[in-house]
Amino acid sequence: MYVVRTIAALRNHTALWRATGARVGLVPTMGALHDGHLALVRAARAECERVVVTIFVNPKQFAANEDLDAYPRREADDLAMLRVAGVGVVFMPGTAEIYPPGFTTTVRVAGLTDCLCGAHRRGHFDGVATVVTKLLLQSLPDAAYFGEKDYQQLLVVRRLTRDLDIPVRIEGVPTVRERDGLALSSRNAYLSPNERRIAPNLARVLRRIAAELTQEPGAVARAIGRGLADLESAGFEVEYLEIREAATLAPVTTTVTGPARVFAAVHLGRTRLIDNLPVAPAP
Ligand code: AMP
Repeated sequence: MYVVRTIAALRNHTALWRATGARVGLVPTMGALHDGHLALVRAARAECERVVVTIFVNPKQFAANEDLDAYPRREADDLAMLRVAGVGVVFMPGTAEIYPPGFTTTVRVAGLTDCLCGAHRRGHFDGVATVVTKLLLQSLPDAAYFGEKDYQQLLVVRRLTRDLDIPVRIEGVPTVRERDGLALSSRNAYLSPNERRIAPNLARVLRRIAAELTQEPGAVARAIGRGLADLESAGFEVEYLEIREAATLAPVTTTVTGPARVFAAVHLGRTRLIDNLPVAPAP
């Protein structure tokens, strides 16, 4: 496994691979890796002979009041995990390699980014879209792998590759969870023991809402009302809890008529948690 820190070195590896006919898979991450990230690597390895993992804590996707400085960084552990996982190259650029002095371009996906996390984290998806566009063009993979845990991000990335004619397949990978249902996240490391006990209630409430709406697709308002009350009484401060269409993120406020998802963002102490699950009306 090669660890490279420059775009030129990354391109040397991927160009050689492509010349030998190998398919290249890309897995972008911010490090502090867990089994959710490794599921993306496994999906990439299943389809591609060579896999690039990027580790870059992207400052442009954090607002001024967010946790950029506190974000966990565990370089040695990350590299050990990726070595075992069979990764070919790890790209770990410094900030100046990605955003050299004079960098002024922003990739902005309109519409899809107005709701959910886009409405609550100003500029977040501009930062994501800009860095993902750069990582795709730097590595020119056949496919790139993103988690459904960040479902809105997955749709944003799909849209930008389509709109900008970037010839890459974007694959979504189902959310990996702890045994108690909590979605794995690098930010789970912030939770105190008591918060960690509370945290699985987020997935539990989403599961209940999804089950209720499968049985009774017209009960969106009631299911959301109950869900909000349940989240608050569990100890979360709720940022949003909404049903939206799975393909477009259009709001579903009364009746689920096609593929939809329930989305939530909550705060637990100083930690922000997000999760989402599919909701489908019974056939
Ligand atoms: P991050 O390092 O948090 O930016 O995440 C990097 C990639 O891993 C993103 O595509 C995430 O959606 C994905 N990811 C994060 N947590 C999980 C999880 N629990 N299950 C599956 N994918 C995940």
